[in-house]
Amino acid sequence: MMHELRLETPRSLAEASRILKETGGKVIAGGTDVIPQMRDGRFEANTLIDLSRLPDLDTIKEEGDFIVIGALANYTSIRQSQLLQETVPMLLEVAGLVGGLQTQNRGTIGGNVVNASPAGDTLPPLLALNAEVVLNNSDGERTIPLSDFLQGPGQTAIAPHELLSEIRFQKPPAGTKSTFLRLGNRRGMVISIVSAATMLLLDGGNKIEEVRIALGAVAPIPIRCPEAEALLQGQVLTEALIEQAAEMTVKAGSPIDDVRGTATYRQHGIKVLVRRGLLKLGGLR
Ligand SMILES: Cc1cc2nc3c(=O)[nH]c(=O)nc-3n(C[C@H](O)[C@H](O)[C@H](O)COP(=O)(O)OP(=O)(O)OC[C@H]3O[C@@H](n4cnc5c(N)ncnc54)[C@H](O)[C@@H]3O)c2cc1C
Repeated sequence: MMHELRLETPRSLAEASRILKETGGKVIAGGTDVIPQMRDGRFEANTLIDLSRLPDLDTIKEEGDFIVIGALANYTSIRQSQLLQETVPMLLEVAGLVGGLQTQNRGTIGGNVVNASPAGDTLPPLLALNAEVVLNNSDGERTIPLSDFLQGPGQTAIAPHELLSEIRFQKPPAGTKSTFLRLGNRRGMVISIVSAATMLLLDGGNKIEEVRIALGAVAPIPIRCPEAEALLQGQVLTEALIEQAAEMTVKAGSPIDDVRGTATYRQHGIKVLVRRGLLKLGGLR
């Protein structure tokens, strides 16, 4: 049976939090996850709270040593950000891979984070960046690491009356390179079968000063690969070392068989993407 659906369009974060508290409605940003989920009957709501008219939540800016991305920043604005191009190019790679242009114009980074899909493509890069999320409710705000925010497929630490306002991370040191790679079936409509975000900072002698590796779609939540990172840290980057590290990252994941790929394929995919990422960033291929 059809039921009435109210649409609220708050003009401030405080108003949005209040409406959320009063109605228990469903927040909608770009709607590229919410609308299909609603059509599939995956949740019911009497009120949709449209965040798209909130001012200033779509900005991408520097704040001291931090880069701050507003929850409503869409993939097109990420792709076009000079700041991100200069500091975290892997975020532009992600934004250019998500859906087609229509999805990139509507879909937001905040929506991807709160949706918390194991295959959400912004999540491995944000984990590699040690990103934090800023959550607001009518009483104030709190900031927590993304690694604590993500709790399981579609599950996060967001409280019922909270909104995500910002994602923040420390600006990587000058010279840090980064890349995002993924395996998927069809460009434009694809959900990652495996994805990998890699960051690398080398000194003049090719010694690794900093390395971070995060994987998507190979565990209930995107994960880091601490053992491979520890193996690489402080070493001179060589193809043999990369091979060893890539092999190690396979053990970090716990992939499953599903309609998009088998666990075995995913394990192989982890190794391929990590190897490819490190070779590319190290200028070895
Ligand atoms: C054709 C197509 C292709 C796609 N391709 C990809 C892809 O390649 N990779 C990928 O990762 N995803 C992909 N997606 C999924 C989707 O586009 C992304 O997850 C997108 O970032 C979601 O953002 P949104 O603003 O549309 O979120 P919405 O659909 O508006 O919301 C998503 C969830 O987040 C909640 N929410 C949103 N904003 C906030 C906030 N500020 N505070 C609190 N809660 C909030 C909503 O209540 C909802 O639960 C695709 C979707 C489509 C339709």
